[in-house]
Amino acid sequence: MAAGNTLVRGGQVYDHDGDVHKPKVADILIQNGDIVSVGPNLSADGAEVVDASGKLIIPGLINAHYHSHDTLCRGLFEELSLEMWLLYTLPLGANRSQEEIRARTLVGALESIRCGITTVQDMLGLAPLDDEGTDTVIKAYKDIGIRVVFAPMVWDVPPVAMVRNKDDLPKDVQEMLGATGRPVKDQIDYLDHQFNRHKAGGTLHWAVAPFAPQRCTPKMLQGCCELAEKHNLGIYTHVYETRGQVLIAREQFKDHDGSLISYMENNGMLNPRLNIVHSVWISRKEMDRMAAADAGIVLNHLSNLKLKSGIAPVVDLRESGVRLGLGCDNCSGSDVQSIFQAMKLFCLFSAVSEPEPGPPLAHQVLRHATLGNARTAGLQGKIGALKPGHKADMVMIDLKDTAYLPYNSAARQLVYTEAGRGVESVMVDGRMVMKERKITTIDEDGLRREVQDLMRHFIKDYDDVVATRKRAMPYMLDAHRKVWAEDIGMHRFIQRTR
Ligand SMILES: [Zn+2]
Repeated sequence: MAAGNTLVRGGQVYDHDGDVHKPKVADILIQNGDIVSVGPNLSADGAEVVDASGKLIIPGLINAHYHSHDTLCRGLFEELSLEMWLLYTLPLGANRSQEEIRARTLVGALESIRCGITTVQDMLGLAPLDDEGTDTVIKAYKDIGIRVVFAPMVWDVPPVAMVRNKDDLPKDVQEMLGATGRPVKDQIDYLDHQFNRHKAGGTLHWAVAPFAPQRCTPKMLQGCCELAEKHNLGIYTHVYETRGQVLIAREQFKDHDGSLISYMENNGMLNPRLNIVHSVWISRKEMDRMAAADAGIVLNHLSNLKLKSGIAPVVDLRESGVRLGLGCDNCSGSDVQSIFQAMKLFCLFSAVSEPEPGPPLAHQVLRHATLGNARTAGLQGKIGALKPGHKADMVMIDLKDTAYLPYNSAARQLVYTEAGRGVESVMVDGRMVMKERKITTIDEDGLRREVQDLMRHFIKDYDDVVATRKRAMPYMLDAHRKVWAEDIGMHRFIQRTR
């Protein structure tokens, strides 16, 4: 629910189009959740006044790729490739109690708010896909007050399709990964039903999320496109996260030029609604086609490194002109919800492929993390900037934090220096969800106790999963090594001398 009128007085208000190093001091007038005016010495006129002197106010950060289903797995995994990690983590997100679904949703949202994220795009692996679980997730998000672009994942080709040469795996290993498909119609009907049951509005938004092209038949992709068109929604899907997925495309999608982009295009999906996630191993030709179609790419450097997938080609992506967003991905595959870390890596990684001094610069990546990410959800003009007509989603940064001692550039110090410590207050939709570092919407200590309680069972389940699935690990490792040994005609980015 949106709050009444508020005047945020005397902060330095970050403006993408203004002085990004020393933003001007201004007031922000908010009415019913919307910014109505930004400027010096605005009249409070009965509005509640929030003193923001000594604060830097930035547009709320947006996480354009996230999954809430594994927040309780944070810190459980290390040194695993994507396929190995999926084998362990997938069962820990499925068939859980409603208490656990609520707790894990709140844990991820809480961390996000504390790190200045006001919108999460939750590509949730909800299993089973049902009303009860959906209601629990939506209620948790509403209670804590973060904005969500909710995108429960759908697929009809079994999870084992993530592994190249899956048919060479022993039957029981195939089954551990998941060898059973799901009916298309049930899932499309489920989504349509939820979009009607919980109408978008306030802090709830929807998107359509076919898991990945190789996990969806043409019928599923077409069904998702029709649904996105009908409800005017964005589409998110995982594409070219690993080298193995390039080989899968070349070997199994020959009828589509061996390209997942062509496969999506031939099923009506290559259009401005589309956002592909990862694109570590996308070719330059495919980037150009994405750019021409006004489709977007959401980068997740943190998880791509942790899961041994590789480094997305930042410089080529920028040169292609394709629209870009940033995400933090899973809590057990990155393992942090911090757009600050994602922004810093984005800027630093340009050096891997381009040693010449030059962009991307801090103020440019700040645009990707706000305006670019808003565009991925179809929320451009509504979130991502502190301007009249936009939603009052903002973060107040304490300039007394040592990250700003001395204070020379807002944009550069937000990207290169801020670790999340400076985030002091957070407003979403005009509602202060964190004030002076205290969460105002839920009982944070109560949540801590609940999680502690839930973890007793959760860790037992984790131990069981690891014990029963260990047998499959050598096969996954072998598959991972083979795709890295193969010359796929793309730069490996980092030379090795041995
Ligand atoms: Zn993902």
